[in-house]
Amino acid sequence: MSRFWSDHVVNLAPYTPGEQPKIADLLKLNTNEHPMGPSPLVLEAIRAAATDSLRRYPDNESTALREAIAALHGLDARQVFPGNGSDEVLAHIFNGLFRRGDRPLLMPDVTYSFYRTYCRLYDIPCRTIPLAEDFSIRVSDYTAGHPAQPAGIIFSNPNAPTGIALGLADIEAIASANPDVPVVVDEAYVDFGADSAVALLERCGNIVIVQTFSKSRSLAGLRVGFAMASQEIVDGLVRVKDSFNSYPLDTVAQAGAIAALRDQAYFDQAREAIIETREYLTQQLATLGFEVLPSRANFVFARHPEHEGGALSRALRARGVLVRHFSLPRIEDFLRITVGTRSECERLCNTLSEIFLKTH
Ligand code: PMP
Repeated sequence: MSRFWSDHVVNLAPYTPGEQPKIADLLKLNTNEHPMGPSPLVLEAIRAAATDSLRRYPDNESTALREAIAALHGLDARQVFPGNGSDEVLAHIFNGLFRRGDRPLLMPDVTYSFYRTYCRLYDIPCRTIPLAEDFSIRVSDYTAGHPAQPAGIIFSNPNAPTGIALGLADIEAIASANPDVPVVVDEAYVDFGADSAVALLERCGNIVIVQTFSKSRSLAGLRVGFAMASQEIVDGLVRVKDSFNSYPLDTVAQAGAIAALRDQAYFDQAREAIIETREYLTQQLATLGFEVLPSRANFVFARHPEHEGGALSRALRARGVLVRHFSLPRIEDFLRITVGTRSECERLCNTLSEIFLKTH
């Protein structure tokens, strides 16, 4: 790399996103996208916004969107911080809230791998805490026995890629044991059956919740995510954001996201469909001999006692089915499989049966 770059940049290993292939008839169950697509009202709102307002700059405070999110969660709009997907919101959080010199950020050893990338990017020391034997987060590890002054704590709930969720009492225990540092709960998948920590915000002023429109609202392409926290924390994030990019959300994204929040009936129906299909997929995989972790997300995390994860994902890919495999310690046996439609899940299971028949 050019001599202009510091070692810090030269040694930065960027986050590797799930593959977005261009091949037709590939079954894509690797990036936890929603199979149904967004509400038709979203498309109408986007068309109207594009027709009326593209020549103008967007509302740089995303006022109507923040008000709609706040109304849904019983908050004040000043407690909502939107961004271009939750990845961008997380970047502002790492940049603004977790840079505390030598103090480490605590996180599970198995969680969303972007967190480690952000630690490297923003020079934040990170201390990973092993998940329990059953891959759940052991609450006592975060309430005692860690360095007296961490920079903060972050985990996903449900955790990714395990799909296992913590209950609210556990999250409250972690937040109240660390009252002086931010505890960030990444709820990208919360709508598929876990409880949101929004209910704790009033009691625990150090909790920061991050959600996205990419999963349960089926709008990954629109890039809308947001944080919810105390007004004081959001004010700080706004300062970080304004120094970085003061027009985070374009007009079309704001209009589409607001319309998605308005169509509650569509949202409920799409979410129920995923939860029902997840139970079906879990059962089918168990019948094929997989151990499937109990998921509250729109994906399942599963391993087979006789088939190595990497080999299995390659065999699936060769037959046109994409799933996610992580070559990481502790989880290299596992596959993370997005819950698609019922017929997509049937195709996945039939393909797995075919592979197993061939290898026996
Ligand atoms: N958090 C978690 C746990 C995720 O899995 C993802 C999606 N890869 C994100 C955040 C980011 O989602 P988005 O930027 O699309 O909102």
